[in-house]
Order: sequence, then C-alpha cells, then structure tokens
Amino acid sequence: VPELPEVESLARELSESFQTHETLVRVHCLRPDLRFPMPIEELESLQGLRFSEVTRRAKYLLFRAGTKSLLSHLGMTGTWRFESDLRLQVHDHLALQFSSGRYLIYNDPRRFGYVDVISTDAIGSSRWLKHLGPEPLDPHLKAMHLQKHASGSSVAIKLWIMDQKNLVGVGNIYASEALFRAKISPLKAASRVSNKEWSALLKAVREVLQKAIAGGGTTLRDYRRLSGDKGGHQSHLSVYDREALPCIRCKTKIRMKVMGGRSTYWCPKCQKGLTGK
Ligand SMILES: [Zn+2]
Repeated sequence: VPELPEVESLARELSESFQTHETLVRVHCLRPDLRFPMPIEELESLQGLRFSEVTRRAKYLLFRAGTKSLLSHLGMTGTWRFESDLRLQVHDHLALQFSSGRYLIYNDPRRFGYVDVISTDAIGSSRWLKHLGPEPLDPHLKAMHLQKHASGSSVAIKLWIMDQKNLVGVGNIYASEALFRAKISPLKAASRVSNKEWSALLKAVREVLQKAIAGGGTTLRDYRRLSGDKGGHQSHLSVYDREALPCIRCKTKIRMKVMGGRSTYWCPKCQKGLTGK
C-alpha cells in the first residue's frame, strides 16, 4: 500500500518529469469506474489545460492544471507511468494524452484508487481533503498544537497519530518506528504524552518519513515507483517486525500487540509506559 513517503516520492518524480507547457490533449477513460465512478465529464474539462506541477496532500496526488487540479488517490495498488505512445497493459484504466505526444497512464489492479477534478483555489475545502489533520512535514506544525489537540483523548498514542483527522500520513510502520525513536510506549494515552515527549515524537515522525522519502519509500509489497523500480528501505527498520528480537538500544525483547487491527511493535523497557513519568 503506498504510504506518504511513496506518494511524496511519486509526486516529486512526476513534477520533475512534466515538461514546460505540456497541455492535456485528450482523456481516455478505459473503464467506467475505479473505486468510484470515473468523473468523465470533469476529466474531459481538463483538456486544453497545461499541467505544471504535482503536489501531495496526505496520500493524495494533486496534478495542478491552472484553475483546476486532478486529484488522485492510489488506493492499494495504483501507479502512474509515462509512455511514449498508447501502449496499454492489463489494469490500465485511465490515459492522459499530452501535447508532447506522450501519455500518462494510471494502472491499478485492485481498483481501490480513484480520481476527481477539483478547483485549485479550493483544494483544502474539497470533500476529500477538508477533514484531514496537519501534515507532519509542514514546518509550521508545532508539537504544542498536537498536544493541545490530544488533551482529553484517552486513545492510545499510536492510534491517535495514525488517525488522519489528527495527523496525516503516519502509517502503521512509521508509527511504530517513530514511537520507538521517541521512547514512548504505543499504549500510552494520547492525553498523557508530555510536552517534551510530543516534541520528541514530532521530530521522530519527521525523521522516519524523511528517511523513507530519501530512500523512495518503504516497500513491503509490490508498490512500484514511476520508473518501475521498487522503493527499497525496509532493512532500516529499528523495531517494526522484530517481535522477540533484542531491542537495538537495551537488548530487551521486542513485544508485539495488535492495536486497531494492526501489528504494533515496541520495547517494554525503553519506551515509557501507560502512565508515563
Ligand atoms: Zn529497549
């Protein structure tokens, strides 16, 4: 499943590969639906517009085309690739033909992804994005903001940081890794995380995400980058998937517990527990 680092890497690659003045000539919808019906008329309204850059919000790609933007969520198996002609492969569902003669093609075997067209100056208030919490990599985000927002929440900190309404893009692996770095138990109630711990946690979340972006994203399944290379980063995990192995800091056996349906790994000794302090 593409996570924030993979989506960020893809946004950067796509953005860099758009040529100046590349105009969308024609939209080819190759099936009527993905996860939701394909918005064919809205997609066709992008014809004639220049695609300039691709940005990311949470796990959404935003292709900027003047006053309109194409929003793309990759679901579980979505990918975009450029082709020099309309050379289709199985599971190609959408092809954007550009004035340069090349095609940008969306492929998604499981079809959990989706696309929409939104107004560029109202991106933040679109129905897909308006409920999302802050971006962890936004330099304006302060630990104090998170602490304030979490006060009164008895939810375990790991589940709290993975909730998109609180903070976006912290997937399961990154949550375990960041809490390990910050030395906070994943079981600790969000409201009991101290000011100092929030600072350490936000710093740790940023570090694990930046490290994964630099490596093209942690790839545990078959997610592929634009170039077709697999992102490769999983050998750098410090706590995730290390149940019963010695903690790399204190040699205590790493524990595993399923929280919110997801495997959670932590060191019971050096990650501060339920009541903290
Ligand atoms: Zn330890």
